[in-house]
Parts: sequence; C-alpha cells; structure tokens
Amino acid sequence: MPRPIRAAVSASALAHNLALAKSLAAPAKVWAVVKANAYGHGLLRAARALAAADGLALLDLAEALRLRAAGERRPLLLLEGFFEAREIPIFARFGLTPVVHCAEQLAMLAKTRFEGSLDVYLKVNSGMNRLGFAGEAVAEAWTALRGMPQVRAITLMTHFADADGPVGVEPQLAWFEALTRGIAAPRSLANSAALVRFAEATRADWVRPGILLYGGSPLAFRTAADLGLRPAMTLASEIIAVQNLEPGERVGYGFAYEAARRMRVGIVACGYADGYPRHAPTGTPLLVAGRRTHVVGRVSMDMLACDLTDIPEAGHGAPVVLWGEGLPVEEVAAAAGTVNYELLCRLAPRVPVVEVP
Ligand SMILES: *Cc1c(COP(=O)(O)O)cnc(C)c1O
Repeated sequence: MPRPIRAAVSASALAHNLALAKSLAAPAKVWAVVKANAYGHGLLRAARALAAADGLALLDLAEALRLRAAGERRPLLLLEGFFEAREIPIFARFGLTPVVHCAEQLAMLAKTRFEGSLDVYLKVNSGMNRLGFAGEAVAEAWTALRGMPQVRAITLMTHFADADGPVGVEPQLAWFEALTRGIAAPRSLANSAALVRFAEATRADWVRPGILLYGGSPLAFRTAADLGLRPAMTLASEIIAVQNLEPGERVGYGFAYEAARRMRVGIVACGYADGYPRHAPTGTPLLVAGRRTHVVGRVSMDMLACDLTDIPEAGHGAPVVLWGEGLPVEEVAAAAGTVNYELLCRLAPRVPVVEVP
C-alpha cells in the first residue's frame, strides 16, 4: 500500500467553475490563470479540464513550452513577460504573448531580431506599484510598441490590489482610464475578486480569473459555496495510529498539546512536507470519517494529530479530509493565518494527485 495521502482533482469541478466565470464575464473572453502548476492542481490536467477557456495565463516559459509540446493551441499569456532578450524569439516561435511591463523589456524588444511577430500585453501600473508603466510612460510605451513592425496586437492590462478589500476597484479603474484615454486597444482588468464582485465595471475584453476556477472564494466575506463554486481539490489521507491519553498527557513535538481530559487522538498521515501548514494551530478543522474535528498540537513533517474523542467509530484507516469536499480550504487557511491560494499552490510534489470526474 502507498502512503494514504492523495489530492483528488475534479475535472468537472474545474469545468463547472470555469462555466461560472464565463457567465460572469460574457461577452468578455477568459484567460484561465494556470500559474504555479495551476494553483497546485497540475498544469496539463487543468488545461484539459479548462478546455472552454479562451486562453491560458501563466508565468513560466518552461511551463508554456510544456503546454505547447502537449498540443495546446490556445493563446498563452506570460504574466511577467520575458526576462532576457534571448527568450523573445522563443515567444515568437511558439506564439506566446508576453506582458510588457517595464522599460527594460521595451528596450530588449526594440533591439532583438527574431522571425515572425508577437502579440503583447502592455501593463499599466494603476496604483498597485508592482509591475507596469505609470504616468506618461504608458503613452510612450504604447507609441514605442506601435512603432515596432513585429508587434501585432497590443492589449492594455492592469491588476487590482484590493478588489477583495475595502478600497475595491474604483480608484484604480479611474486611474487606468485616465492613463489610457485615447488609446484604441482591447483591455484586460479583472482577477477573480473583481469578476465576482464588480463584473459590470471590470469585465472589459478579457478577464483573468485564477482562484475561482479552483473553487476557492476570492472574497473573505463570501464562501465559495455561496458563490456557486465547487472545490476542485480535496486533500485526503487516513488515520494511521490512535493514542489514548489520560489527563495531563501530551502530544507531539514540544509536547505542545496537553490533554485536559481522557481523550483519543488520531495520527494522520499528512504533515508540512505534504504542504499542510506547519503553523496551523490546535483547533484547525479537519474531517474524520465525514465528521468535523480539529488538529491538536504541532503539525510535524509527515504527520499531524487530531481529536477523535467524540468520533469513537473512527480508528486506524479512517478517512480524513484536510480540505476540499465538505471542508472549504478557506476555513483551514483562516485557522492557519493564511489564504486559500497559499495552501493550494503549496501542495507538495510528493503528494500523489489523482484525477476524479
Ligand atoms: C494571479 C493573477 C491573476 C489571477 O488572480 P486570482 O486572484 O487568482 O483570480 C490575474 N492577473 C494577474 C496579473 C495575476 O498575476
């Protein structure tokens, strides 16, 4: 028997969530964001399940080439563009669309000889101050790109810093519009949070949802189920040992948890080397045999402990859900002081992934 931990990735959940994104976005087209190994779900698997997306957006040239090698024909958007001039001919050869976000990339593009042509995304810094041209540099970059005979279509894009927060999108939208006024080009604005919260204002020509495709809520104040999303990944394992504790006995590294009463503790084959957050404290929820309980003590590399006192039927071999079906990843993330994004994309390579319908 293999170690019992595995992540089940549901192709139908991915397709369902994409259909929801498409209905929010229509008539805009959808880039399915598949960076970070499709948020931990597996790049090629996700690309297949997300067959109805108009294009795929990611970061890594090697991943884009893997998609092309697997026969992927849709547009591929590289969200940080190229990093060195020598990548540019590869972009052209494989029909990859770079984001151009800084003067250095413009200069590389201007001086590099390559065959064929490129579509590009011109990134506008509308206030997030991460990537993009700001102020007068936007119009200058536009003019420079327009003057390059090998640059074909140019799309304007920006990214929202607080689409899920109190600021929302309004100030950045206004700033983006001011910076791009008079430029006749398609536009791409919305991430997941903007799409579910401000669809009317942000759908533009292309949207770029990521987390919602995987069934994660992009909004702290709305559950994924509430938004009609289905979890695409269920991380599951089993109880591999049971300990019966007397009051005052302790569990795990640092003896960090002390039993206040007689209790049954289950040891789960899942630890931080599997991608489970080490800082998940006592109280972090999980499901054993379909019933809700919680982590006790410190998460170790390969195991964690949970309270089985009120689940007497659960013993060695009982099924455990760490997150996914029946236990939203958002709840585990909140307990561990992080976000759904981090838990999903940090699923460790050693965890076998099985595709389920
Ligand atoms: C990651 C990313 C997205 C997707 O964000 P979600 O919050 O996962 O929807 C969209 N656009 C850009 C530029 C990104 O880097």
